[in-house]
Amino acid sequence: MNQTASTPNDREVENALYQKRKKIYPREVHGLFAPRCVLGVFVLLGLYYVIPWVSYEGHQAVLFDLPARKFHIFGLVFWPQDFFYLAMLLVIAALSLFFFTALAGRLWCGYACPQTVWTEAFLWMERKIEGDRPRQMKLDKAPMSLRKFRIKATKHAVWLAFAGWTGFTFVGFFTPIRELGVSLANLSLGPWETFWIIFYSFATYGNAGWLREQVCIYMCPYARFQSAMFDKDTLIISYDEARGEPRGSRKRSDDRAEKGLGDCIDCTLCVQVCPTGIDIRNGLQYQCIGCAACIDACNDVMDKMDYPRGLIRYTTQNRLEGKPVHVLRPRTLVYGLILLALLGGLVYAIATRVPVDLNIHP
Ligand code: SF4
Ligand code: SF4
Repeated sequence: MNQTASTPNDREVENALYQKRKKIYPREVHGLFAPRCVLGVFVLLGLYYVIPWVSYEGHQAVLFDLPARKFHIFGLVFWPQDFFYLAMLLVIAALSLFFFTALAGRLWCGYACPQTVWTEAFLWMERKIEGDRPRQMKLDKAPMSLRKFRIKATKHAVWLAFAGWTGFTFVGFFTPIRELGVSLANLSLGPWETFWIIFYSFATYGNAGWLREQVCIYMCPYARFQSAMFDKDTLIISYDEARGEPRGSRKRSDDRAEKGLGDCIDCTLCVQVCPTGIDIRNGLQYQCIGCAACIDACNDVMDKMDYPRGLIRYTTQNRLEGKPVHVLRPRTLVYGLILLALLGGLVYAIATRVPVDLNIHP
């Protein structure tokens, strides 16, 4: 078959589909939202790593014992016939996602998604070992040397150790974690335990260390369909174009009105801190995970310029257009009421569960 030379249009399509990855070096950011993110990471990771070690009434408090077909959760025991509760829990989780997304946008992505949380932890380790953004960029550009090899090897060793601990903890939710620890120390792990520890460790190392924003941009289905849950009253992180444009650099002492400039000094700090590498000034984009790093970065710039904060802020499309905002609207009310009813039903069903003891005599 004859190959025709690709037209620029073909090339554009190809670039959009198979764009070469450009490594992102998110700049560290401080401000109002950064501590909340750090707190979220500590709380969520803390819960994940600590819960399997907690005992309740002499047993591991949370243990999904698959061979015995029993799930232990703080004294409650769920059997295969209780699958109904799991189904209900999944429906509640899905509906919560709809409810909170309609109300407050991508809260899940920015603050609670495991991909975000573990990536934050891996980025933190990277910064501690390789230094801040400029140092990381300089190191990557430099030719391989003993120093570069040492730094890179240290980073990957630390990442792998952390990922290994993550994999071990994951299996500890399914096999009593203390026994698992003893088996690991004696090198007598079973084949399935070995497989899942290795699998989960490499999944963590790969996703949080290497793939990072690629998971959010190309692999996560939620990013693609979340816009269907948004409306003009949904809380989003947005750049105030009316206030910021025309953008342009200037001295702090310059009168921006005289120069015909808006409040954006075009410093690109909001882009440099973005973990997915986008420019929020281009409008709402599906790649935005709602982490609020650009808000902190821009507020810092506004403070330094002596301009009011909030050029990038949590807002709604209606507010940006000067229209009233409706928090309570049919969509949020319906989601909220169904969610409350399901939650109430689940709590009632579990609280009034009557265990049945059967003795079968042959
Ligand atoms: S951080 Fe603020 S001032 Fe700087 S480029 Fe971004 S929007 Fe403009
Ligand atoms: S645009 Fe802002 S809120 Fe969105 S991912 Fe980037 S830094 Fe986070």
